[in-house]
Amino acid sequence: MSGLDVITEALTRVREECAAAGTGRVADYIPQLGHADPSWFALALASMDGHGYQAGDAEVPFTIQSVSKPFVHALVLAELGADELSRWVAAEPSGEAFNAISLQPGTGRPANPMINAGAIVTTGLVPATGAAGRFERIRALLSAFAGRPLDLDEQVYESERATGDRNRALAYLMRAAGTLPGAVDTVLDTYFRQCSVLVTTVDLAVMAGTLANGGRQPVTGEQVVPEPVAVQVLAVMATCGMYDVAGDWLLRVGLPAKSGVSGGVIAVSPARFGVAAFSPPLDAAGSSVRGVAALRTLSQRFGLHLMHAA
Ligand code: GLU
Repeated sequence: MSGLDVITEALTRVREECAAAGTGRVADYIPQLGHADPSWFALALASMDGHGYQAGDAEVPFTIQSVSKPFVHALVLAELGADELSRWVAAEPSGEAFNAISLQPGTGRPANPMINAGAIVTTGLVPATGAAGRFERIRALLSAFAGRPLDLDEQVYESERATGDRNRALAYLMRAAGTLPGAVDTVLDTYFRQCSVLVTTVDLAVMAGTLANGGRQPVTGEQVVPEPVAVQVLAVMATCGMYDVAGDWLLRVGLPAKSGVSGGVIAVSPARFGVAAFSPPLDAAGSSVRGVAALRTLSQRFGLHLMHAA
């Protein structure tokens, strides 16, 4: 069997084994997300030499949601540098849910750029003239990571904007603390659009692969962000990417990762590959039940834990 067949075969087998994992619930707090088919389940992997491997519904489009956060974090790190960004957003695990009101006492800074509060601030820091320009920069960046132009799902965006009161509350709290860079409605509008960009599991794998590859897109060869930026983003994903289960994830899976409420999860094996899973039913921590099971199985079966001696 060729190397390609071995990897496709491994993904297919893990997908079959994890298809019955847990019970989970499709997110419906953004009503449009509730229309997702709970049986969708995909795995995809992108290697550093530009090869892609997939199993299941890997070309079904869905909105990127919180999986956008590490990429926008990378954009702002590349533009402002870690020191300036840390004046606005800390890099400490919050140990709390994605939508927690987690602002540090004294400074009012959000705990990290992976929870909503920190991601909203990070989005507001993207240098651009005007809200439309800011979103276009974000869309262009996400597209460069994916290696193809990405579209916006207008219906999810409208649904998110109509029901985003908790994010609005977070933004107002930060505005009051002086830690929101911009007007509440403008920053949130860009954040809601950012979350509503459409991707497939194949896209997410190659986006994760770009971070694994020191910021160079393994298919197009474009250096999307500088290598030190990719390293910093992976460090924050490792400690904060899985919200209130980040510690357990590092213990059991041992790879930098990020999940989102539409059911996407990415994980990165530095200098080796990016991997993505997609399945809409979520666990209590807001991550894909089958996606988490599949990435955990892959890590354990193939000894992918970062702290592994070999
Ligand atoms: N757009 C979602 C929200 O704000 C993102 C949350 C997530 O994917 O974890 O609430």
